Amino acid sequence: MLKSHACGELRSSHIGQQVKLAGWVHRRRDHGGLIFIDIRDRSGVAQVVFNPATSQDAHKVADQFRNEWCVLVEGEVARRPAGTENKHLPTGEIEVIARRAEALNPSKVPPFYINEDQETDEFLRLKYRYLDIRRPAMREKLVLRHRIVKHMRDYLDAQGFIEVETPILTKSTPEGARDYLVPSRVQPGKFYALPQSPQQMKQLLMVAGMERYFQIARCFRDEDLRADRQPEFTQVDIEMSFVETEDILRLMEGMYTSLLETVTPDWKVVKPFPRYTYQDVMDRFGSDKPDLRFGMELRDVSDIMSQTTFQVFRSAIEAGGVVKGLAAPGCAGYTRKQVDELVELAKARGAKGMVTAAIASEASLEGLTMEQVRSPSARYVTVEQWKALAPRLGARPGDMMMFVGGPVRMANAVLGALRVEMGKRLKLADPNVMSFSFVVDFPLLEWNEEEKRWDAAHHPFTAPLDSDVALLEGQPGKVRAKSYDLVCNGCELASGSIRIHRRELQQAVFRALSYTDEETQAKFGHLLEAFEYGAPPHGGVAAGIDRTVMLLARAETIRDVIAFPKTQTAWDPLFDAPSVASERQLRELHLRIVEDEKPQGAA
Ligand code: ASP
Repeated sequence: MLKSHACGELRSSHIGQQVKLAGWVHRRRDHGGLIFIDIRDRSGVAQVVFNPATSQDAHKVADQFRNEWCVLVEGEVARRPAGTENKHLPTGEIEVIARRAEALNPSKVPPFYINEDQETDEFLRLKYRYLDIRRPAMREKLVLRHRIVKHMRDYLDAQGFIEVETPILTKSTPEGARDYLVPSRVQPGKFYALPQSPQQMKQLLMVAGMERYFQIARCFRDEDLRADRQPEFTQVDIEMSFVETEDILRLMEGMYTSLLETVTPDWKVVKPFPRYTYQDVMDRFGSDKPDLRFGMELRDVSDIMSQTTFQVFRSAIEAGGVVKGLAAPGCAGYTRKQVDELVELAKARGAKGMVTAAIASEASLEGLTMEQVRSPSARYVTVEQWKALAPRLGARPGDMMMFVGGPVRMANAVLGALRVEMGKRLKLADPNVMSFSFVVDFPLLEWNEEEKRWDAAHHPFTAPLDSDVALLEGQPGKVRAKSYDLVCNGCELASGSIRIHRRELQQAVFRALSYTDEETQAKFGHLLEAFEYGAPPHGGVAAGIDRTVMLLARAETIRDVIAFPKTQTAWDPLFDAPSVASERQLRELHLRIVEDEKPQGAA
């Protein structure tokens, strides 16, 4: 090794030792003859002093050093002079008195600061990702990612899971996104699909008798990239035979609690993870991934509102809809402008309008008077009705109530968004808590209004609840699934389900999804056939690694926890990918580029 020690490991116990360090010039200061250089490697930073009185040569060499040069230094570890220690640095008690120095490779001036955490244009950071990752904050995130993945591997190994690799060049496995296709050179006109997930493979591994499979798996989904999506991302993918929902939930709870307790113990975890049904979280939080670090639950007030003279709400209820509300603590003093902003947010989510009612802070709920309720709709609601509404929402004097009426889906979506917004504004969530929960029994199918057919809400291999199988034919929208999500702080971290393992039921679900028998055979014939060879009952789950690391690292985007991510336009600025293929490559792949806006009959 060119070096004897890592920069960041030096402590006062090393005083007197000769060391050889190699790394990058993190910072350089010239103090009238003495040169101080902080050398940085992956482990941290050590201060090196170049004194012409110790070594004229070393001092001369170091005089040339500039930021980000790759350098090598030899010298003796010494205690820093009293009063110059740096308590914020693990190596802050010592310094290295240099005897020899060597430039291993000079550096151009980097396009952004590496030794300071400054807001930097993300394009530049991605184009020079190798410099961006030199920044300690980025390096720490990748190190944390390594620890998290290693912990998961060890945990699953200890539970008897076997890691099996599955192919990247394969056939479409639908997870609700578009496939990435790879043209075949040897089979003209045919394409592989990159896996949206290893879903079918892991199920086939269960048929194959592996019983407990996992994989740190790359998944590819060609979606329009909303915030925090990447065209390729990583999951810890899990499948088990002879299990029911609760077995998988317990495994996930065990893996995540042990992960947090061992790898990131500074986070507080709420145990055990509560379980909610989909219906429950939609009713109470207006979201299937609620942030449970605070309350502010949604409440149905249709019964009270239907008694008022408020026509808009009454007609919403008569049309089969609902009126729901929530109470924002301490917001009675909101200005007109603040209220208008919230109304705009509600409208952007599909509400026709929103009604607010502020309860004066000096009011008492029992003795509430009309003057103490400030609401544009006050006159439609009697004081008795206000008195009933406030406790229903858990509102207290000084709070502001918000009401939305209409179809229940819309009311939930709007109030769910308002709940998140108010939670942010009022800083209701404890930033040091990881509040996990499981959401179970999602609907099996989702109506696709554009194509006028049912889509799988999770994926088509998910089993319906036994009690709901009979509804598949007549009322597919009512069928609930043996599916579950792991949710944390408003983020979906993992999804999974108990699978269908019998041919007939799988075919019935494909039929409900409007696949013809021919399509089913062409796309999934292999899986259906496998089910006929004694396929065991099985189920599984997949958790997003990028998301998990992002949350635990307190990163702002998943791009910050991926070494080489792509931009919102699925572009890699460092490699400039995707890029143009040569004529020859295209010919070999039997492809022709059609420049036309509307390609006709192109491969
Ligand atoms: N394949 C699913 C997904 O990627 C996870 C699972 O059902 O295990 O979301």
